Amino acid sequence: MVAQTVKPFRIGSIVRDDAGAAGVITSINPADGSIAGQVVRATPEDVDTAVNVAWDAFRNKPWRRLRPDQRATVLYEIGRRISAERDRLAHLQMLDSGKPLKECINMVNAAAGHFRYYAAVCETWQDEVTSPRGEYFSMALAEPYGVVACITPWNSPIMNEAQKAAPALAAGNAVLIKPSEETPQLALELVRICTEAGLPEGLLIALPGLGEDVGAALVKHPGVRMVSFTGGTETGRAIGAIAGQRLIPVGLELGGKSPHIVFDDADLDRAVAGVMSGIFGSAGQSCVAGSRLFVQKSVYGKVLDALVERSKGLRVRLPDDPEVQMGPLVSTGHRQKVADCVDLARSEGGQVLVGGYAPQEQPLDQGMFYMPTIIDGLTNASRSAQEEIFGPVLVAMPFEDDADVVAQANDTVFGLAAGMWTGDYARAWRVAREIEAGSVWINTYKQSHIATPFGGFKDSGIGREKGLHGLRLYSQVKSVFFGMHEKSMSL
Ligand code: NAD
Repeated sequence: MVAQTVKPFRIGSIVRDDAGAAGVITSINPADGSIAGQVVRATPEDVDTAVNVAWDAFRNKPWRRLRPDQRATVLYEIGRRISAERDRLAHLQMLDSGKPLKECINMVNAAAGHFRYYAAVCETWQDEVTSPRGEYFSMALAEPYGVVACITPWNSPIMNEAQKAAPALAAGNAVLIKPSEETPQLALELVRICTEAGLPEGLLIALPGLGEDVGAALVKHPGVRMVSFTGGTETGRAIGAIAGQRLIPVGLELGGKSPHIVFDDADLDRAVAGVMSGIFGSAGQSCVAGSRLFVQKSVYGKVLDALVERSKGLRVRLPDDPEVQMGPLVSTGHRQKVADCVDLARSEGGQVLVGGYAPQEQPLDQGMFYMPTIIDGLTNASRSAQEEIFGPVLVAMPFEDDADVVAQANDTVFGLAAGMWTGDYARAWRVAREIEAGSVWINTYKQSHIATPFGGFKDSGIGREKGLHGLRLYSQVKSVFFGMHEKSMSL
């Protein structure tokens, strides 16, 4: 199960395999603390080399000048190859991130789907012909930026990288990816697959370095023309500030504290199942986790009893157990952060109804597991209800009526997602329109696919990924006029 080889990375034709000079990043398997793999660590000097190689590839290789159908052929082939390697990639992903194998398989499938989708977008994209207001023919064209940097978190490796690389490449850019230091292996695999599928060398480079040096160097580098970042809100704010100074565009997909609402007219059984999957899926390490639960007062006790009962029976297991429902957290440090948040909730007066501890029995005691946790007795103003925990911790609160729940749901700096369960679709529509969030789910939760835009309101981000918005994020518009004058132009 353990892969301990040191993986080099490539910058164009340069192979960085000198682990002695740069050192390595060691990825720890969160299930048992063993070494999942080691990669040669990129440095800020590598960023400079990579930017130059990427610009050379952008300017001198035919990629951006290929017809869209020709670019699409390569993107389709990348998707096909990711699918062909699905089981191996999913296994590696599981070792790196600790996510249940079935979730990793879904993520690899999604990554392949992202390349297929943007191949189709590439083939069917239509630039605009604008209505002329004079003697000319005018168009608005989507043009690549040149070299763009994509910085990704650890919670959905390969899927996050594909979500950025596929549209950025489809738009004709050269792409530098900096994966999270917690999960560096899948980005290297993605670059290998892209190259084997026919993507010209230098168009996609992975730099598996630390955020504070390699990530920061990428954002500051004058050769980087656009930054696409997914990660925590404070990191995003710092990146946005630098991008603001440099006047380069950014796409920011940031944190959340999403409200999950249960109205008293809902099918409560389905609502409880939805709330469980909304918070405990991926062990709560999901930007859209439904971590603030609002239940209408008349059914509050009933819903909480059902949630506590189901949480006690949740199968917290090793990620490769076929029956697993919740695996470990990504690292010891992150588990400590989650445990500290639960301690904070206790000190704020919250009652831990279930969970609130790391399991001590074998084999879970070897890994970074934390039990599903539900906290009652806090208000929406508490820090526990306002700050992102990014773990399997649900803060439950009652509400009176529609106006009350809309006010509480919106009383947060975040605005990534929201969900609600109700039997009344007119109410659902009304409330959905009032909620400040980039995605709203009605009688379902955490649905997502590549054709529907995704992104946050407020401190949850800027810009939209996925769908046609995804391609626009990595394109700048150029207007072109062809003169159709009957006579010479006059002043
Ligand atoms: P993080 O912000 O700590 O790190 C994200 C990435 O940024 C990593 O690759 C890291 O190395 C890099 N980085 C760190 N400091 C940097 C700097 N100064 N300059 C440039 N890069 C830097 O986030 P994380 O802990 O990896 O991920 C968890 C967070 O990501 C949560 O807040 C979660 O909500 C958010 N997230 C958001 C989405 C979304 O789509 N909105 C999706 C997944 C995760």
